[in-house]
Amino acid sequence: MSAPTRPAEEQAIRRDLAAAYRLMARDGMDDGISTHISARLPGERFLLNAFGLRFEEVTADSLVTVDAEGEVLDDPTGLGINPAGFTIHSAIHAARPDVGCVLHAHTVAGVAVSCLEEGLLPLNQWAMQFHQRIGYHDYEGIALDLDERRRLVAHLGSHNAMIMRQHGLLTCGNSVGDAFLRMRDLERSCQTQLAAQATGQPLRHASLELCDHVANQYDKWNDSDYGLELAWRAELRRLGIEAPAQPHRAQEATGSTVA
Ligand SMILES: [Zn+2]
Repeated sequence: MSAPTRPAEEQAIRRDLAAAYRLMARDGMDDGISTHISARLPGERFLLNAFGLRFEEVTADSLVTVDAEGEVLDDPTGLGINPAGFTIHSAIHAARPDVGCVLHAHTVAGVAVSCLEEGLLPLNQWAMQFHQRIGYHDYEGIALDLDERRRLVAHLGSHNAMIMRQHGLLTCGNSVGDAFLRMRDLERSCQTQLAAQATGQPLRHASLELCDHVANQYDKWNDSDYGLELAWRAELRRLGIEAPAQPHRAQEATGSTVA
């Protein structure tokens, strides 16, 4: 069966979203058929994974299109979507028009840190980017109650990352690549914190001034479409996808790198 003809913009979003699912699986950040990544489409619609597929099975043409009320508009596999996924993603897409992608994950380190009363600590470069830039959402059970959407949105606020206590992690981004790269940094922040705490040795804490400085540096990097584009295209190449470059943005590179 040939793939339906879609606008180029939607094709690119589908390519990136399917790639994010497969990269999550490749990096061990998936959880069977649970969790979800969504991407906004024009016209108050968003794409989610078909419920029942493992992340490495998700393709650009198997993604399900739903509207803001949860009505399925296009479901190529007939599998539908995870209802808890709709609760979480519809809330954020409705409240945050600046967000193009929402990524929710149950990684082991992320869930472990979500169980710690103090949450994520700004112990290292990865983690400092989230200093005063991460929300916390209390666990309410599996997210089937649409009323929880109000609290999810309130707890996320204007941040692009959130720890869902006793549950997992959530990141947002302007684009799919932005959300994916932020999730990987957040998961590495959690892994590193647990590894450092597991030594039992005294932890070296950075000053608030240094945390502010590094977080601002990351903000600058993340505001640079060019930097994100370079990083995301490098990730796509892990899957054998050569995305076209956008050389007109090259001048933005100066002064916006993460080393
Ligand atoms: Zn979940």
